[in-house]
Amino acid sequence: AEPPPATAVPQAGDPTLTLLKRIGTVDPASLDDYRAHGGYTALRRAFELGPAGVIREVTDSGLLGRGGAAFPTGRKWQATAAQPDHPHYLVCNADESEPGTFKDRVLMEGDPYALVEAMTIAAYATGAHRGYLYLRGEYPRATHRMRHAIEQARARGLLGDDVLGQGYAFDIEIRRGAGAYICGEETALFNSIEGYRGEPRSKPPFPVEKGLFGKPTVENNVETLVNVLPILTMGAPAYAAIGTGRSTGPKLFCVSGGVARPGIYELPFGATLGELLDLAGVRDGLRAVLLGGAAGGFVRPDETDIPLTFEGTREAGTTLGSGVVMAFDDTVPLPRLLLRIAEFFRDESCGQCVPCRVGTVRQEEALHRIVERTGAAAADDVALLREVGRAMRDASICGLGQTAWNAVESAIDRLGAYE
Ligand code: NAD
Ligand code: SF4
Repeated sequence: AEPPPATAVPQAGDPTLTLLKRIGTVDPASLDDYRAHGGYTALRRAFELGPAGVIREVTDSGLLGRGGAAFPTGRKWQATAAQPDHPHYLVCNADESEPGTFKDRVLMEGDPYALVEAMTIAAYATGAHRGYLYLRGEYPRATHRMRHAIEQARARGLLGDDVLGQGYAFDIEIRRGAGAYICGEETALFNSIEGYRGEPRSKPPFPVEKGLFGKPTVENNVETLVNVLPILTMGAPAYAAIGTGRSTGPKLFCVSGGVARPGIYELPFGATLGELLDLAGVRDGLRAVLLGGAAGGFVRPDETDIPLTFEGTREAGTTLGSGVVMAFDDTVPLPRLLLRIAEFFRDESCGQCVPCRVGTVRQEEALHRIVERTGAAAADDVALLREVGRAMRDASICGLGQTAWNAVESAIDRLGAYE
């Protein structure tokens, strides 16, 4: 039997939404229902435009990657399509593991055919005939629904040797993660698919040139891919008119913590943090908001006019990351929260490089001493945290080590933790 309906989407059923409009409305098990709700018009449009035309639309839309790093999707697709080496691969990163992030789960559980369609378009545009969906192991319902959608699409000629009768071959294989945060890093993810330890590779070469099995690979996040559907159905100019000039389109935000209505919210880029918190019903005594998850940073309650765009958060000295917004009220003991974040990074470090392997342990030890001292810090522990943090940021191989000190640093500098 189908499990009960998916997680909280407080805006469910709002027809004015772009990415969430089918969530809670469409039957996620029914391909016919997906088609009745506009499904597969974007793929038809893609075949009319041809691969180069699709890449032009995606480039003109200004779409930036939604996994957290905001790299221009059109540039990535163009770079892969241009590679003379073959085969090309498509990998959808659905290993959503950033603490507080659950948007991709909601998309896969509530609208799985949208991701199948979007992956087909991405593969067609970049010359791939095989796609991997690397799905977080802790998401059994999303796995079940995606597997069913892929089987149905295959049975109905929407995947396989002759997609939509257009003479184009494409199929999708699901690979499940086994609980390691690091396997969401794209090159560790490739290693995991290839059967090796989930350890990041040095970049460059970037995956567009040498990715999965050493071949040109487009790797995109679930939300990034799903945005391609409205780009093709409404056209790049209409899509680019949503949001701000530099952060175009709609964005999903994962709101949790001290709010009355936690869940996934869709807003155009450019709405402020305060507007989002008002929608979610922020509770009294707001002490801090964590933006971007454990790899992100804290902001103060008086900073809620920060615009939720990639450039706006950067200019404010913080990050949007994958769209995490965690609210903490004054009942949450900040030193314990920071220790919890440090434990997470120490646990999840793959141990391949010294700054991160040793740094995450030293960071945790210092924060542990602080908590034991009833939350107060000695000056030399704060100095040690800064020194270790700088080394991790400057010398770690991958994003995990480079960001493992962000939240602690922002708590010291912006929230005045330990003062
Ligand atoms: P990155 O900036 O190294 O790369 C971003 C993407 O752009 C990658 O796909 C990379 O291959 C590509 N790229 C970068 N430069 C390129 C070039 N010159 N040519 C071609 N391609 C290029 O970032 P990253 O380490 O992949 O990701 C870091 C982000 O991941 C952080 O912002 C963090 O918020 C986010 N993150 C998200 C989750 C999640 O669950 N969604 C978990 C952990 C981290
Ligand atoms: Fe592994 Fe950390 Fe080095 Fe990344 S920074 S490769 S997670 S040890």
